[in-house]
Amino acid sequence: MSATLRQRYWILAAVVGAVLLLSMSALLWRERQSAIQSATAVNQRVQQIAEAGVRTRLETTASMLADTLINPVYFFDLQVIEQSLVGVLRQPDIAYAVVLDRNGRILHDGSRDIARYAERPDDAFAAAAIATAVPLTQVSARWMEAAQPLLLGEERIGVLRLGLDLQLANTATDAVPVPFAWDPDWWWWLGIVGMLLAVTALWVERRWVLPLAHWQSQSRSLLARRPLSGVKSLAVVSAGQLVGKALGFAVDELALADSELRRQLLRDALTGLPNRLALRQRLAAELQTCREHEWELALLFLDLDDFKRINDTLGHDIGDDVLAEVAHRFAEVLSVEGPAAGSFVARFGGDEFVVLIRCPAARQRAATLAEALLNALDRPFRKAEQNLHLTTSIGITSFPDDASDAVQLLKNGDIAMYLAKVHGRQCYRFFTPYLTQLANDRLALEQDLREAMNNGALQVYYQPIVHLKTGRIHGAEALVRWQHHSRGMVPPSLFVGIAEDVGLIDALGAFVLREATREAVGWTTFDHRPTFVAVNLSVKQLRDPRLPQQVTSVLRECALPPQRLHLEITESALLDDESLAYSSLTELNRLGIDIWLDDFGTGFSGLSHLRRVNVSGVKIDRTFVADLLSDRHDLALTNAIVAMAESLQITAVAEGVETAAQLEMLSKLNCEYGQGFWLGRPMTATDFRARLAHESADLAAAGRSLSDAG
Ligand code: C2E
Ligand code: MG
Ligand code: MG
Repeated sequence: MSATLRQRYWILAAVVGAVLLLSMSALLWRERQSAIQSATAVNQRVQQIAEAGVRTRLETTASMLADTLINPVYFFDLQVIEQSLVGVLRQPDIAYAVVLDRNGRILHDGSRDIARYAERPDDAFAAAAIATAVPLTQVSARWMEAAQPLLLGEERIGVLRLGLDLQLANTATDAVPVPFAWDPDWWWWLGIVGMLLAVTALWVERRWVLPLAHWQSQSRSLLARRPLSGVKSLAVVSAGQLVGKALGFAVDELALADSELRRQLLRDALTGLPNRLALRQRLAAELQTCREHEWELALLFLDLDDFKRINDTLGHDIGDDVLAEVAHRFAEVLSVEGPAAGSFVARFGGDEFVVLIRCPAARQRAATLAEALLNALDRPFRKAEQNLHLTTSIGITSFPDDASDAVQLLKNGDIAMYLAKVHGRQCYRFFTPYLTQLANDRLALEQDLREAMNNGALQVYYQPIVHLKTGRIHGAEALVRWQHHSRGMVPPSLFVGIAEDVGLIDALGAFVLREATREAVGWTTFDHRPTFVAVNLSVKQLRDPRLPQQVTSVLRECALPPQRLHLEITESALLDDESLAYSSLTELNRLGIDIWLDDFGTGFSGLSHLRRVNVSGVKIDRTFVADLLSDRHDLALTNAIVAMAESLQITAVAEGVETAAQLEMLSKLNCEYGQGFWLGRPMTATDFRARLAHESADLAAAGRSLSDAG
């Protein structure tokens, strides 16, 4: 197994530390040796100088003593000789003082009894001393002797030997100390340096080696995922190489991740189509190309018709499925129909798609493509065991005819699409500058609506709801009207939506509710039968938890019994925000107010919510009634709704009754109520009251003539 980076580091650190310590020791050792040498030389010199001093002192002493001894020796005066010798021997370092006669025998040694008298000395210095005719100094390790011949004229009458004990002569002055002595201090220093080295090594390990080791291991695991080109085993790769390779690898991976991220950023997750961002980029690029080559570019803005209903009734999962399939079909159309260059489809958001085509005569080409896109939705979508029919509205605009930049082009496409919606949906429309005027109109309308709410320009009209069996008016639907100062009558289909969008619906709803309730109190029939008023509720109103409270106080204020108020809600409103809507509706129901489902049959919803909310009636949408006589499906559906209402014991109201034939058919189907232009257009409160009075008068007259006849 190969050593890890840390192990290798510590081995290296130990070797470097040891080498450093050894070199330091060697250096110190050498220094010390040379210091010892110089100290020794100095000490030797000092010794020599000291010895020379001693020698001079000894020789001088010997010479002086010899001078004093010549006469006593000559006259053999042993007493004087003794005195002279004793005087010298008193000096502490003088070891001996001996006088020899001319034959070399001991004459006197300074002692009283001269124990060695006449002996011939045989020590190491003796022979030379006995024989010398001149002053002679001899030195041994311990002793220094000065031999001084005693000369009387030319005659040598004896020899004085003066011996000095060098150990006592104090020749050794204080030795010069040796610097860097090999003492304990020295070890301390080495220890401290060693410790410093260890601490430094530890610091380097923490600061550099460990992060590097971490890098290395990370790099290893990173590279384990990818074979290293030209390297058989990771073990043989150096840390630097490894990290280098890993960095390269990481850069590759990052680049890959970056491109993947970009891809995801530009793609719509649900449909897999390019998204809004991708569209903007593409549009900018296409416009640039078109500007350079003076080409044409067409933009198709698609919005699915009433897609919200699918989401509301079948749930968002199914909605998502449908959107994905729609996207797939559009992409298919483009691959088959679209021109090879510059064709592009993107999801713009929600249920909106945008198609670009760049080719000569792009506007004409766009119309053909729009047809193909419309046809692509002909086949029903099979979801949740139902056949869903979907359509789209398409707005077409082009560069350079309608706009010069991307933002304006998209805006134009949106406006043209809006025109297609207004023209009954499932169609395409080209942008014209007049449409911009229309869009601006909406803004102006918003502004005017706010003023209208304050200025009393809103009015409530009433449309009779007729009991089909008796032909008598049982109630009326309250429909808001706006008499615009310059536009004339603005239809609610135009401004109710705006009121919802800009947050005016609460005020508008409250106004209609109060007006209708106050009005309905005064509705009398000749037989005093209670006549109801049906008020439309918007989705937004239903979501307001204060709604039941608001309705209660209006009823109390106007003293209208709750049974005479019906509230109309749409299926989608019911499913939009279930919990809030259900609790409000339950509360209203508890008060005794009837809830009717408006535009029934156009939603995709099942009948389950009829059970969940206590619905008292359904209003069959006028699209069924319109084709009642020509379309057997509509007839069957209307029949089914009426039958269902009957069995659920709820009311069925047919909307949009425009002809006598329709009325007859509905009566045959046993539909309970009818409403429509044939039975009475929406009218002012005064007109409705007059209509009621008229009907009462007719009935009263008919009753009277009947009783008269009876
Ligand atoms: P809705 O509740 O379905 O009202 C019936 C609509 O059908 C009314 O249109 C009425 O004028 C129209 N209509 C009645 N009989 C016939 C007929 O025989 N043939 C045809 N073609 N149409 C007929 P209007 O008044 O334009 O109202 C449109 C929609 O605006 C209403 O549909 C309702 O959803 C909404 N709305 C009207 N007033 C109010 C209101 O006060 N509050 C709320 N939230 N919505 C309202
Ligand atoms: Mg209605
Ligand atoms: Mg309706």
